[in-house]
Amino acid sequence: MNEFELIHTYLSRHADKLDDECLLGVGDDAAILRPNADADIHISSDMLVGGRHFFTDVRPEDLAHKILAVNLSDMAAMGATPRWALLSAGLPQLDKTWLDAFCNAFFTLADAHQVRLIGGDTTRADWVFNLTIIGQTPRGRALRRDAAQVGDDIWVSGRLGLAAAALDDQWLKVRLPETTFTTCEAQRLRPQARVRLGEALRDIAHAAQDISDGLLQDLNHILHASSCAADIWLEHIPSLPDLQEFAEYHQWILAGGDDYELLFTAPPEQREAVLQAAQASQTPISRIGIVRKGTACRVLTADGSEYLETHQGFDHFA
Ligand code: ADP
Ligand code: MG
Repeated sequence: MNEFELIHTYLSRHADKLDDECLLGVGDDAAILRPNADADIHISSDMLVGGRHFFTDVRPEDLAHKILAVNLSDMAAMGATPRWALLSAGLPQLDKTWLDAFCNAFFTLADAHQVRLIGGDTTRADWVFNLTIIGQTPRGRALRRDAAQVGDDIWVSGRLGLAAAALDDQWLKVRLPETTFTTCEAQRLRPQARVRLGEALRDIAHAAQDISDGLLQDLNHILHASSCAADIWLEHIPSLPDLQEFAEYHQWILAGGDDYELLFTAPPEQREAVLQAAQASQTPISRIGIVRKGTACRVLTADGSEYLETHQGFDHFA
C-alpha cells in the first residue's frame, strides 16, 4: 500500500461531509474552514509517542480512541465544542488489519462527537501521533484557567487514580485484583472526554482544566493562573474504593496521570446549577475543596490536619 491509497482508502471518510463551515476537507493541499463569525475558535494539539505515552503493542482501536479522546478532553476543559481534527501519524509500516481497526475506532469516536477529520500528514517513523483539534465556543464564553475566584468550590468529574493504578500494575509495581485491574485498565485505555459537561458548564463554572498529569499538578495550573490557593479534602476525592488498601492510593489520586477528568471551580451560589449540568450531561461529579487566598494548595485529611506527602504529578522532563 502506498501513501495515496492510505489517504484514499482509510483517511477520507469525512472528505465529502462538507457544509457552510467546512468548505474543503481531506484531499487538497489544505482544508478550508469558514467558521461562524460569532464563535471563538479553540485550537489545541496533543502528541502521543510510542514507548512513552503508549505501549507499541497496544490494540490499534484503543490507541485511536486515546489519541482523539485526549484532544477532546482539551476541548472539554475549555467548554468548547470540538468540530474538526487533523491527524499526523508516523508509522513504521502500513498494515491493513491494523489500519482497519485503527480507523474504525477513530471514526466511531469522531462521529459520536460530530468531529470531522479534515487533514493531517503521514510519514514513516517509529510510532508517533499528533492530533490537532479545532473547536468553538460562543464568543467570550470559554472556560479558562485564569478565572478561578476566592470562595469558589472545586469540583472534579468521574474517578481519579484508576489509570495510574493500572499502569503500576502493568509495570509490576503492584498486583491489583483481576476485576479491579480490568476496571482501571479500561479507564487508562479508553478515557471518556467530558465534552458535554464542559459545554454545560459554560455559563456556570469559572475556571476549568482537564486532569492529565495528576490532580495537584493540574490544580496548581489553575491556582497559579488565577493567583489564588486551595484546600483539597483528601477523603472527598472520588476513586475506586478497592484501591484504598494500597500504599500507593494517595499518590494515584493526587498525582496519577492520564485521568482525563474535568477539574473546575464555580461559585457556591451555582451549586445547584453545577449539579444540574452534571445530570444533564450524565457525568458524575464531586465537590473536593475550595479556592482561598494565598499561594499554595493544601491537602487536608478528615480531621482537618494537613496531608504532607504530596507528590506533584507527572513532569516529562523531571
Ligand atoms: P501534501 O503533499 O500536500 O502535504 P499529502 O500527500 O501529505 O499532501 O496529503 C494529501 C491529503 O491527505 C491532504 O489533504 C492531507 O491533509 C491528507 N492527509 C494526509 N495524511 C493524513 C492523515 N494522517 N490524516 C488525515 N488526513 C491526511
Ligand atoms: Mg503532507
